[in-house]
Order: sequence, then structure tokens, then C-alpha cells
Amino acid sequence: MSATIIDGKAFAARLRARIATGVAEFHAEAGRAPGLAVVLVGEDPASAVYVRSKGKATRDAGMQSIEHRLPADVPAETLLALVADLNADPGVDGILVQLPLPKHIDAQTVISAIDPDKDVDGFHPINAGRLATGLPGFVPCTPLGCLMLLKSIHPKLSGLEAVVIGRSNIVGKPMAQLLLAESCTVTIVHSRTHDAKAHVRAADIVVAAVGIPQMVTGDWIKPGATVIDVGINRTEAGLVGDVDFASASQVAGAITPVPGGVGPMTIAVLLRNTLVSAARREAVAIDI
Ligand code: NDP
Repeated sequence: MSATIIDGKAFAARLRARIATGVAEFHAEAGRAPGLAVVLVGEDPASAVYVRSKGKATRDAGMQSIEHRLPADVPAETLLALVADLNADPGVDGILVQLPLPKHIDAQTVISAIDPDKDVDGFHPINAGRLATGLPGFVPCTPLGCLMLLKSIHPKLSGLEAVVIGRSNIVGKPMAQLLLAESCTVTIVHSRTHDAKAHVRAADIVVAAVGIPQMVTGDWIKPGATVIDVGINRTEAGLVGDVDFASASQVAGAITPVPGGVGPMTIAVLLRNTLVSAARREAVAIDI
């Protein structure tokens, strides 16, 4: 048996087309484009690539991209003052500070300084709390993208056994919260888990967000399960996920590839969150 391949690239392209329509509707009503501010500190090449592609995707969707680049040795106070300015700027609907930050700046302090209602990355503790308590807020882009892909396979997730591998604040924990909110029975596997494979073998849904190349092999997967691979690992063999696609796709019912699975969803959801923020702030009804 060979699994259905979940085409994240095509799904993200459809989502971006819907967002572009929503942006045009917003513009017509509010008289301005939604604005996304992205702050890059330092010269980290991977971060620079992410910021460039976020800026391009923002402009392609008809939104305004506001980019700020600060030197690696910028004092924390200067970055916090910029965040305060962006919080106060009525044309800015979303604020994103690209991580990681240089060592002398505490990322949590900066994240906590962002207005939670402009925190389109969903990393602010208030948004984590809103997600945990079922209040509307912003949900981190990667796990929300995973949920959208899962729902394309399982319109009803209620009652399914879900295992999330990884418990980071940006992927694993919010993913588990989202699945719990969908009434899955959720297990979180992490580095101290005694028998990760046994947990994964029992799961109808597996979300792997570990950062270990091809850790999850086909013999870990329950036949017919849906497998979402968040991992992005650069190896000598090229870009690979946390799941061994060759063996897992022989057992799973549906699976995301790497690349072309979860990756393209992250920026699409960032644009979605920015449009949702703009619509909330201007009280414009957008169907997205
Ligand atoms: P982190 O390094 O922050 O978290 C990794 C998690 O995996 C930790 O909770 C850790 O457990 C757990 N872990 C480590 N080793 C094991 C093990 N042997 N068995 C079970 N669990 C283990 O990573 P992120 O959450 O930020 O990212 C995870 C992966 O997703 C990475 O490959 C990253 O590149 C990718 N990623 C992809 C994105 C996309 O857009 N597609 C966006 C963000 C991330 P513990 O807490 O105990 O240390």
C-alpha cells in the first residue's frame, strides 16, 4: 500500500489565492492594505532568506511589507523601542521579530513586548494562554498550517488518537493544544519519553516536530495513519524531514513530503493571520 501524498504546496497556493481576494476586499472597505512589519536583527543567512521570502509573499498578496534591519550589536533597548513604535503605528497589523536573536538580547522579553493583538506569529504568552483556554487569538503559523493539512484528510478529528513528537513553544505545544481543541486524544512525546515508538504505533495521527533526520521510520507507523512531518533537516543527502518518507509512506494512509508539505504552509498562514488581524482591527468582515 502506498500513502496519499498531502500536497502542502498546492494547499498553500490555494490559501494564498483566497488571502489575496480577502486583501482586496479589506482594501476596498478600509481604504488601506494590511501591513506586516518584519524585524531582522543581524546577518544570519537563513534568517535573511526567511525575511526576504516573507516580504515577497506579503507584497504578492497585496499587503504592505514593512522591513526593519538592525545590526547584530544593536542594544536591546533600541529593538524594544522599535517594537513600541510598531505597536503604536495604526498601519501595522502584524509584527514579527525574526528568531533567533543575538545572544545579548532575551527573545522572550522582545516577544512579550509585542502587542498581543499584532502578534501574528502567536508566540506571545497571552496568545499561548488564549489558545490553551479556547479564547480567540493568534496561533503559531506552523502548527496551524499542520492542522489545516490534517483537516483536508480528516474533516472530523474528534476522538482520534494523536501523537505529537516534540514540545517546543513554537510547534509541539501549540500543535497539541490545537488537536486537543479538536477533541483528539493527545499524547506528547519528547526526549525523556521512555518508548516513543510504542506511543507513535498507537496513533491515528502523527505530527513529528523533532529536528532529528528521518527518526520516525515505517515500523513506527500504525497502518493507515496520517503523518505530518514538520522537520526541516539539511543533510548531505539534501533536505529531509523527521520522518523516513520512503518507509513511512508504505504504511501510512496519508503523509506530507519534505519539501513541499508543511513548509509552504507556514508563510501562507502568516499572511492569513495578518489579514485576520487587519480585519479585526478595522472591524471589516472577511471570510477566510
Ligand atoms: P526544538 O529543537 O525547539 O524542539 C525539538 C523537540 O523535539 C523538543 O521538545 C525535544 O524534546 C524533542 N526531541 C528531541 N529529541 C527527541 C527524541 N529522541 N525523541 C523524542 N523527542 C525528541 O525544535 P522545533 O520545535 O523548533 O522544530 C522541530 C523541527 O521542525 C525542526 O526540524 C525544525 O527545523 C522544523 N521546523 C519547521 C518549520 C516549518 O515551517 N516547516 C517551522 C519550525 C520548525 P525536549 O523538549 O525534551 O528537549
